[in-house]
Amino acid sequence: MELKIGSRILCALHSLMLWRLPTPTDAIAFAAWEADALGSWCSRCGVSLRCSATGADGACAECRGRQFAYHAVTRLGSYHDPLDVWVRMIKSRGWKAMAEHLGMMLAARAPPVDIVVPVPMHRIRREVRGIDHAGELARAIAVALDVPVCYALTQKLAARQMGASRTARLLNTQRFQLSRAASSLAGARIALVDDVRTTGSTLQSAAAQLRDVGVARIEALVVAVRDPVPEEEDL
Ligand SMILES: [Zn+2]
Repeated sequence: MELKIGSRILCALHSLMLWRLPTPTDAIAFAAWEADALGSWCSRCGVSLRCSATGADGACAECRGRQFAYHAVTRLGSYHDPLDVWVRMIKSRGWKAMAEHLGMMLAARAPPVDIVVPVPMHRIRREVRGIDHAGELARAIAVALDVPVCYALTQKLAARQMGASRTARLLNTQRFQLSRAASSLAGARIALVDDVRTTGSTLQSAAAQLRDVGVARIEALVVAVRDPVPEEEDL
């Protein structure tokens, strides 16, 4: 832990001194970070299995009894330091190089898919932010897997995730709509890409739309999954 904290300070100083972002390779080396081992998270919902063991049906305590429109979750890690910092910097500083690097890492552990679909950002928000983070991840994954990207979904502007309560997110089931491109997805195995799975409502809403066009399978690919807070820490 001391090494990681020291590495983060070094990384921050390095960036400030040079007034630029480090290369993804440098940032990962400074943080002494590695992606989680395969099998260390629940394949249904993506949370760390150290939080809850799976039952005979493959569901962990977090997702037992819940049904998802996507079939499985593949991730690089839990949403904590340093991955959370990098994910936020991709969005706040337009760190495309890190998005591409993490996308390639995700592709290396992705199940077989035919088409990559990013969870969409509304165009106005994308123009304000200057980067389509899920789109950047999706493009890197598609290149690495040598499959096409399909912009099958669009987002309605009214649905805003940040700041919404957990209940509101779970009830917010119509955030996306199908684009004309979605008609080409029938029978395909889809990689549905986003940066973070928090409650799962975003992936659920996006995947539910894709199911309507008859896709064969939906693999959710995310950089990080926010683990539930243990009850004793849920103050
Ligand atoms: Zn689970």
